[in-house]
Amino acid sequence: MSEAPDKFESLRGRLDAVRARIAESAHRAGRAPREVTLIAVSKTHPAPVVRAALDAGATDFGENRVQEAAGKIEEVGRREGVRWHLIGHLQANKARRAVELFDLIHSVDSAPLVERLERLCAEAGRASLDVLMQIDLAGEATKSGARSDDLKSLLEEFGRCARVRCRGLMTLPPFFDDAGQVRPYFRRLRELRDQLTARGLFRDGDAELSMGMSHDFEVAIEEGATMVRVGTALFGARGGAAAP
Ligand SMILES: *Cc1c(COP(=O)(O)O)cnc(C)c1O
Repeated sequence: MSEAPDKFESLRGRLDAVRARIAESAHRAGRAPREVTLIAVSKTHPAPVVRAALDAGATDFGENRVQEAAGKIEEVGRREGVRWHLIGHLQANKARRAVELFDLIHSVDSAPLVERLERLCAEAGRASLDVLMQIDLAGEATKSGARSDDLKSLLEEFGRCARVRCRGLMTLPPFFDDAGQVRPYFRRLRELRDQLTARGLFRDGDAELSMGMSHDFEVAIEEGATMVRVGTALFGARGGAAAP
């Protein structure tokens, strides 16, 4: 544990640095930095790291796996003004637990999952659950996310929901070494958001766009991201040595 204070000190520095880069990208795009929520992706990092990030001022945390998040949230404890985001694929058999734990689920990609979440909210007495529709823009068979074919049934299902509310879109584009190459995907997600707004799914200017990770969040912000999901740039590499 002797290295811990150092590690946490650099965490504060990295948080400030990422915030500064968010502000710069927002300004470049003529947007206000407060339009962009930084989600600190704490997956694989233990509770003490989350606590340090909280103390350094992080308010939003992203987790990939329901089970891992459950343990961590219990250890860290709920805090006023802190939100937990599920950003990884949600299996049907974990949905009940997810309804108990998360403030926002980014990975909703099928009508049956929406239907299940609505039923589980009713059973748990949860009046509302905000979710994002995860969109697969690349048509990658191995990735989760709704394709254009799935959109109609998803939208119909949301229309039947009283508790589950679709608040925007999320995407996880293919990885490119050159972050500039990912720009068309971010742009397409924004265009889809605008189309769905025109069709009345979202109120004007109201819908979230969850896009951008450590290596490409600046491009995402230029293309309209309202939530960026940043892990490595804040916490260092996962499953390896901490970043310098
Ligand atoms: C892990 C993860 C991130 C964060 O990735 P980094 O490259 O570490 O910033 C963002 N979004 C999703 C869906 C992830 O699984």
